[in-house]
Amino acid sequence: MQLLDGKFVSEKIKAEIALEAADFLASSGRKPHLVAILVGNDGGSETYVASKMKNCEKVGFKSSLIRYNTEVTEAELINKISEINFDSEVDGLIVQLPLPAHIDPEKITEAINYKKDVDGFHPINLGRMMRNLPCFIPATPYGILLMLEAYQINTSGMHCVVVGRSNIVGSPMSVLMARNSNPGNCTVTLTHSRTQNLKEMVLQGDIIVAAIGKKNFITADMVKPGAIIIDVGINREVSTETKSGYKLYGDVDFEQVAPISSWITPVPGGVGLMTIVGLLKNTLASAKGEIYS
Ligand code: NDP
Repeated sequence: MQLLDGKFVSEKIKAEIALEAADFLASSGRKPHLVAILVGNDGGSETYVASKMKNCEKVGFKSSLIRYNTEVTEAELINKISEINFDSEVDGLIVQLPLPAHIDPEKITEAINYKKDVDGFHPINLGRMMRNLPCFIPATPYGILLMLEAYQINTSGMHCVVVGRSNIVGSPMSVLMARNSNPGNCTVTLTHSRTQNLKEMVLQGDIIVAAIGKKNFITADMVKPGAIIIDVGINREVSTETKSGYKLYGDVDFEQVAPISSWITPVPGGVGLMTIVGLLKNTLASAKGEIYS
């Protein structure tokens, strides 16, 4: 078993991004700029946004956090988004999910100018991704591709089984792994909660992408020996063992599965760190006008 080490790969790529951000500053007179909107104070969301902002500063980007309490209306949010859409000094705009129940996440996603949609959730970016056209790829799947690339894993011809079909992880991941590119060129099976014989399906995977949201869901008896395991899950549990007061678990039972896998991402220290890299790369590409002019 070998580790797909998100800490090592993310630090390496962030050093490259920092150099490019410095070049951008020298030539344009400004830093790439990411704006995040956070509604409410959900513990997980607070942590993710803080980490995104901190990483922006680390690579020499400007970052701005706009906070609202949970009473904010959908119209207020959309007004703010429209204002930012027209701000030529903002390259990327993300709205941290989940949102309170009275706000429709689809409306919010579509309100963001797709040219600043560095989370890659806007239908135009997803549509362009389907057609293998330049676009912002959703940050988590993008991070996974960068990880596979960093370890020079040739996925061509492999059977990739994705567990979970969310719009932000499972579905785009299935599209990307089936595309005619490397990483990609896989035969893909996309599974979900209605899939029959899930164990038999997952057992066929040369690559298994687990994006379910259930601690230790993928067990050793579901994994073909030698498979590559990508664990997207972040399941937080209260713990007295850690300073933060909680502990993170993946969707894969790491202890059991690691010994029979060829490559595996740990949790924490795997896909989560690469997601930030995906977001930073999209923001830099936006600033440089590499995707849309
Ligand atoms: P969602 O809750 O949106 O989707 C979960 C998916 O898992 C659904 O498609 C659901 O099926 C499927 N599922 C649930 N139960 C089962 C089951 N028993 N058998 C098969 N499939 C099942 O989650 P996300 O995709 O947003 O996130 C998944 C996990 O990844 C979470 O732990 C989340 O915290 C984490 N995450 C991590 C990121 C990172 O940076 N590392 C980024 C984003 C998410 P159905 O559609 O039928 O309901």
